[in-house]
Amino acid sequence: MTEKQEMQGIDWKQYINPYQNTVILPGSGESIIIKPVTTKQMKRLLIYEDSNDPSALEIGMDEMISTSVISEDFKPMNLYIQDRFYLLLEIRKASKGSEYSFTNNCEHCGGQSKQNIDLNTLNVKKLPEKIDNVVEINENLCIEFDLLKREHQHNAMVKVLADKTIENENLKVVEIGTFVYAYSIKKITVPQGDIIPSIEEAYYLLDNLNIEGTDKISKFFESIDFGIEMSYEKECPHCKEKEKIEIPLDKMFY
Ligand SMILES: [Zn+2]
Repeated sequence: MTEKQEMQGIDWKQYINPYQNTVILPGSGESIIIKPVTTKQMKRLLIYEDSNDPSALEIGMDEMISTSVISEDFKPMNLYIQDRFYLLLEIRKASKGSEYSFTNNCEHCGGQSKQNIDLNTLNVKKLPEKIDNVVEINENLCIEFDLLKREHQHNAMVKVLADKTIENENLKVVEIGTFVYAYSIKKITVPQGDIIPSIEEAYYLLDNLNIEGTDKISKFFESIDFGIEMSYEKECPHCKEKEKIEIPLDKMFY
């Protein structure tokens, strides 16, 4: 079937999916108009999910976001990572409602439990109005960060996955993490002045920081954390231990 919606002289699309929702992103404050996901979009996502490339599912999600957002001039790569999660959940709610069931494996005993949650009950934090995004590592070194964007995450994944010398899966995840922060560096201030580093310089700097310096960066990002809380605490029905349950995003649309 072609893209043309006019069959027998009728524009079917206006009758099939008439619903639209307005979403206000907790980070950028941007107002975005979305429509529910279609079966066609779901089929596209399945193709990405079968891929061995861990960045493929994210690209599939980007495509789904782009095709669900009606607002003009919308660029999914510009989304803050937290806003992107929020938007994905809103698209999911618009498409399938707010009830979500998934299976969780207990971190203590490994026992499985079925989790039923209402996505409307998750906590949402707004981005603080005023943030100081300069982290003082020591008296000679300050780093100015941008908030983490989907673009930074995408670039980091592309960079690390293209490097065939990194074979270990755990190392890949850690390296992607370092590159995400490296891509988000806007400026470095040293006694010689302000420097806008290349990605290699930014990575070198982060990779060679001591633990204290790295902690300062983690604390900065924790202090400005915003968006939807994707985890909650619950008692395991098997071992009765309290566990932190992470809500999985990947199965959300099926
Ligand atoms: Zn357990």
